[in-house]
Amino acid sequence: MNEFDNNIFKKLCIVSAPSGAGKTSLIKKISSNNKISVCISDTSREPRKGEIDGIDYKFISQDEFQTKIKKEQYLEHAMVHGNFYGTPIDSIVNLLEQDIVVILEIDFQGAEIIKKKFPLSRNIFILPPSMQILEKRLRERGTDKEEVIIERLENAKIELTKAKNYDYIIINDDFSTAEKQLLSYSLDTELTIAQKIRKEPLIHSDF
Ligand code: 5GP
Repeated sequence: MNEFDNNIFKKLCIVSAPSGAGKTSLIKKISSNNKISVCISDTSREPRKGEIDGIDYKFISQDEFQTKIKKEQYLEHAMVHGNFYGTPIDSIVNLLEQDIVVILEIDFQGAEIIKKKFPLSRNIFILPPSMQILEKRLRERGTDKEEVIIERLENAKIELTKAKNYDYIIINDDFSTAEKQLLSYSLDTELTIAQKIRKEPLIHSDF
């Protein structure tokens, strides 16, 4: 990676959130901006109803995943909720060199690895308004079994404690406000807004 101009990594923007916080819907909304491209991760988990291979994720087997790890084809990879997820290296650098902001929709473990490797990258954490609303959204989307919902709610408690390490925090209470914030923070490559905004109290009383 050292052969690249490090400044291109200012365009790399990580977005993390617990399951059900609305991250994917918000990212879908801002991805129509022609200055933004969203990286498609590989995962070893089964597709959910409605998910399309090559659009939502590249769905691959655990064996394929292991082979790609060995071949060093990931910028980072992690085990999340019992499945493998990874950010493929190919295409990212190419897009960054074209001055495109690349969004990585990844968990806090991946975010920590990327920030260490590329300190100029920026990261955004999306919080739900409360734990109760998170649970309600997870149940209403109707895509996961009860045990998966329970595991994701347990993991959310850990994930929420990581929000304070991020450059920007968005509370997804009103969707269109959160969408505007996500768009402006994603394009804030010089961290101008990050320096201006005072971070909200990070852990809500009911988290
Ligand atoms: P889901 O299964 O709900 O789509 O995603 C579960 C979690 O995995 C989310 O927190 C999501 O951000 C994270 N994730 C998705 N792709 C990647 C990736 O490439 N790397 C890492 N570290 N996490 C990922």
